[in-house]
Amino acid sequence: MLYDVAIIGTGPAGLAAALTLKLHNKEIVWFGSAAGSDKVGKSEKIANYPGVPMVSGAELNEKFRAQAEEMGLEMTEKKVTNIADLGDKYMLLADNEMFEARTVLLATGVAVAKGMENEDRLLGNGVSYCATCDGFLYKEKTVAVYCTDSRMEHDIKYLEEIAAKVYVYTNFGYSSDSPKVEILDKPIKKLDGAMKADSIELSDGRKIDVDGVFILRPSIAPTTLFSGLEIEGAHIVVDKNQETNYKGCYAAGDCTGRPYQIAKAVGEGNIAAHAIVERLGEMDKKEQ
Ligand SMILES: Cc1cc2nc3c(=O)[nH]c(=O)nc-3n(C[C@H](O)[C@H](O)[C@H](O)COP(=O)(O)OP(=O)(O)OC[C@H]3O[C@@H](n4cnc5c(N)ncnc54)[C@H](O)[C@@H]3O)c2cc1C
Repeated sequence: MLYDVAIIGTGPAGLAAALTLKLHNKEIVWFGSAAGSDKVGKSEKIANYPGVPMVSGAELNEKFRAQAEEMGLEMTEKKVTNIADLGDKYMLLADNEMFEARTVLLATGVAVAKGMENEDRLLGNGVSYCATCDGFLYKEKTVAVYCTDSRMEHDIKYLEEIAAKVYVYTNFGYSSDSPKVEILDKPIKKLDGAMKADSIELSDGRKIDVDGVFILRPSIAPTTLFSGLEIEGAHIVVDKNQETNYKGCYAAGDCTGRPYQIAKAVGEGNIAAHAIVERLGEMDKKEQ
């Protein structure tokens, strides 16, 4: 199926765009967690979002979720790991499944973590962002997991079932009774290997031999997601219509820059949605 638009991210920016696009009857595939934004969820109190006075992040996330449900919006709980421009449409890879869309909206939030040394070079060669997609390659082997998203605990559990040995670093106090698991108290700093990842180096300099490494973060650096995307620092460069350097590919919210605020994310998601509707109209005219 060819969707009108693929939205990546179920935070405020993605939601604002999805609501408007739905009102315009567009065919949407919307990737991300059904629980919404982890960042919003972590906010103790939000006092500056109009119309919702002094609300906790968890409450606001619930309101966002309920509004999406009421509008009949569905989320595809998959992580997008790659986007390619095919000229008249985009191809997206999400948990090893391919999707096609005429336009794309990146509403991925800001990727705060810097990649590890050699991460980009070894990605796809012993380095994976998706345990459920690539875990089977490491049956009875030794893997390392670096996870900074507590919602991905099930991915670590899955690797524990499959692999012979699992070294785990998390920033949320993950524990396991499995004798296969060794919890690392220092983060992974560097990946090594000529053609394929074959060892990791921790921040204290300790080296461990592995067959594969799983890096499970809430978001992926924009240029890893979409090679050739113009960025400035950690942010995606957009014009006043939220369009990136790729025609038909838009970005909104924290991923386009500061201030990191819900109101800004919602505003940009709305602008992007209107620009997408216009672009789809132009594409329809050309195709007639
Ligand atoms: C502790 C804290 C307190 C805050 N307090 C406030 C406040 O009081 N007021 C305020 O206005 N703002 C506040 N903020 C900031 C606010 O939360 C952000 O500005 C807002 O959430 C940005 O929305 P977004 O949609 O751009 O991105 P996010 O909310 O980060 O959502 C992006 C979503 O995309 C998903 N995603 C990323 N990559 C992929 C992928 N490849 N495939 C599938 N899904 C993907 C992520 O998992 C995430 O769920 C706070 C933030 C924090 C951390």
